[in-house]
Amino acid sequence: MRPADKSGKAKANTRAAAAALRMLPSVDECLRAAESDGALGAIGRGWRVELLRSALAQVRTRLAAGACEPAESRERIAALVIAQARAALASDEPRLRAVVNGAGVVLHTNLGRALLAESAIDAIAAAARAPVNLEYDLDSGGRGERDTIVEGDLCALTGAEAATVVNNNAAALLIALNTLANGREAIVSRGELIEIGGSFRLPELMAQSGARLREVGTTNRTHPADYVGAIGPDTAMLLKVHPSNYRIVGFTTAVELGELAAIGRAHRLPVAEDLGAGAMIDLSRYGLPHEPIVAERIAAGADLVTFSGDKLLGGPQAGIVAGRRELIDRIRRNPLKRALRCDKLTLAALAATLRIYRREDEPAELIPALRMLRRNPAELEEIAQAARAVLAGRLDSGFGIEVIESAAEIGSGAQPAEQIESRALRITHPERSADAIAAMFRRARPPVIGRIRDGAFMIDLRAIEDASALAVTFPP
Ligand SMILES: *Cc1c(COP(=O)(O)O)cnc(C)c1O
Repeated sequence: MRPADKSGKAKANTRAAAAALRMLPSVDECLRAAESDGALGAIGRGWRVELLRSALAQVRTRLAAGACEPAESRERIAALVIAQARAALASDEPRLRAVVNGAGVVLHTNLGRALLAESAIDAIAAAARAPVNLEYDLDSGGRGERDTIVEGDLCALTGAEAATVVNNNAAALLIALNTLANGREAIVSRGELIEIGGSFRLPELMAQSGARLREVGTTNRTHPADYVGAIGPDTAMLLKVHPSNYRIVGFTTAVELGELAAIGRAHRLPVAEDLGAGAMIDLSRYGLPHEPIVAERIAAGADLVTFSGDKLLGGPQAGIVAGRRELIDRIRRNPLKRALRCDKLTLAALAATLRIYRREDEPAELIPALRMLRRNPAELEEIAQAARAVLAGRLDSGFGIEVIESAAEIGSGAQPAEQIESRALRITHPERSADAIAAMFRRARPPVIGRIRDGAFMIDLRAIEDASALAVTFPP
């Protein structure tokens, strides 16, 4: 091709683009045209203007770049803008969407942790719809305390004298430390200075609470004498932290809670334990590894325990502090309580969840997180086979779908070293990489979140309630 030709053609293109741009309709013209459009006509004016403005800008850019057919009339361009705005409207979905958890992690922090029991969901809806006696004492007609909504059940279930609830477990620990040890020392074993996901680092949280961290022992071994030797006039409390997401194995010693509680009593110092997951019931009844039970830790002598509402408890995001009444009262009077308190929806869901534990012999029947953890390999095999059939009807025949044995996790730092037997669908395609298949599943409706193991895309069934959850569609 000769250079003269090229520049001639480029000039013609530029002229065509300039002509098209001169025909660009105004926002007002587009608005008038959009009034008769079914979809755009049905939405609020402000939003309609917003969609048309951005569609107009996109069409302008495309015309200027010569990237679309030079339109022959103003009406044609307006129609282009309307079509573009209508497409933007159609693809406007809520940012927070339901997804399928095929990651094999039951309490997946990034996917919102515990699914709620139906009664907890109903309680949220009821509390959202009508005024509630959140801080109103119906007997006296006077002001009430929102903790009383859950305190009785929490005490009955844990054996604690009192309990208070805040936004999450990090907040529970923050307010406990700030109340008991602001400007003074809290003694912690070096083996328990944890960092868990999502920027929770114990030493940093302690610094924010105003408590001074006094480390004792070594990474793998801490002895009673280490704690006793560190106690001085500045000591405010002894803190034990459940090493949620890791294990120290081999040549190790830790001071058991009972022993630490005895040291605390001897020195008149409160002993607190951050449990993290904090089970209400013994998970070994489902063949799962033993996870600390809140009631056991209170019985073993902890003056305070902190744990999450949305981990093994299977309720909403919340942080619970349970323990001695005098300490809980002090925490409640801390101004931070006002900043960290939880709302009526959370309390409604938490109360409904606790009620299940108190009233049912088998809470796993009603609490999804426990139900998912309880399922045995035979049940999962059945779900996997059914899920395979559902997916086979939705993927083209080029895909291979195989049921395989897999290993799932409880998640949220509970028993990280312990894998629980599960079943998964392994999905392969001769021409597509595992990453490409994973991306295709993320674009499905609803999106399916799986994981890649041994170079293949897998959907683990442990955290998927039943096969129908995989009746998804794949947009073209
Ligand atoms: C999970 C966890 C936390 C943080 O709890 P959130 O409810 O996520 O704030 C703190 N400590 C331990 C030991 C944990 O396992």
